[in-house]
Amino acid sequence: MHPTDIIAPSKTLEIDALAKKLLSEGKDVINFTVGEPDFPTPKNIVDKAIEALQKGYTKYTDSNGIPQLREAISKYLKEKKNVEYTPDEIVVSNGGKQALFSAFSSVLCENDEVLMFSPLWVSYIPQVILTRAKPVVVQTKFENGFVPTKEEILSHITDKTKVILVNSPNNPTGGIYDRETLTTISQIANERNIFVISDEVYDDLVYDGKHISLYGLVKEELLIYVNAFSKSHAMTGWRVGYTATKNKEIKKRISKIQSHVSSNINTPAQYAAIEACNTDNSYMIQEFRKRRDLILKMAQEFGLEYVEPKGAFYLFFKVSGNDEEFCKELLSEKLVATVPGSAFEMPGFVRISFATSIEKIEEGMRRIREFLEHKH
Ligand code: GLU
Repeated sequence: MHPTDIIAPSKTLEIDALAKKLLSEGKDVINFTVGEPDFPTPKNIVDKAIEALQKGYTKYTDSNGIPQLREAISKYLKEKKNVEYTPDEIVVSNGGKQALFSAFSSVLCENDEVLMFSPLWVSYIPQVILTRAKPVVVQTKFENGFVPTKEEILSHITDKTKVILVNSPNNPTGGIYDRETLTTISQIANERNIFVISDEVYDDLVYDGKHISLYGLVKEELLIYVNAFSKSHAMTGWRVGYTATKNKEIKKRISKIQSHVSSNINTPAQYAAIEACNTDNSYMIQEFRKRRDLILKMAQEFGLEYVEPKGAFYLFFKVSGNDEEFCKELLSEKLVATVPGSAFEMPGFVRISFATSIEKIEEGMRRIREFLEHKH
């Protein structure tokens, strides 16, 4: 059987497309599906892309990304996140998604195992399957705040474990791993020479506590760091993400993959991303915090059960009965689009993205309340 026969299309994108179709038909849908900031990309960033086009920067570039962008990312990571990679250790990809796929492809061989913690983002399992490796899902517990324990991790490690995948802040829960958990994961990986792929795309969007990077905890030759501008700078459609690693062999492999799969990413988008490195996004974070506080207040009022999201822009709450049915009925009866937890390997829950306006959050949550009162 071919790997594509066993993977499903991206559920988040599929349900978002359905919600958008209903909206285009004039239906009053509240779209809580896709994790996409509703802010426009900041004007100074857009202007740099226009300028690049006007200057004729419309040709191929270095497939790793233009040196100026890799320099800007290197500086931005150091100054803003205390993460130190030189421009030569960075490869720019088509969004975090391609960066992750290159990271997996650069280390995995057939039947290697990748440990990942559910609830998890929809594309991890399909990406690992496409590389012919094997996803091994560690089910975390609601009672533990969806954070894996040392025992849970160790009981899934085998001699085939090649990678541990970590995503903090987490999609779909909004949870942040504390230093103890990250240290445990790092020690397990360091002792056994297991690679760690760290998807930190939500690291800027933190409202409570502090994001801690795996940079500095995992041995440098074992860490593949992944980040992107999509969520932090409202740049989802630009497709600018990147990998960074100090492992020279792995870096070389990622460069080769990038050069053969897509050459460079869109050239004007690279110039825009340089500007993103120097653009203050704190106003977006403040607004997301307001929205999070509002959604939590409403969720508490009508007794939803959830682990409080400290970052990202998702609320992942418990439902009684089948989560897919819940989402289908909520959409057909109340025109509120959400994503079932099954899409994230955690049935019995539903994800709301609060990357939308206060008015829509108020109206969507009001409808969910009505739905729950009548149904459950
Ligand atoms: N990462 C976002 C989400 O989970 C965007 C959609 C996607 O690529 O899955 O909604």
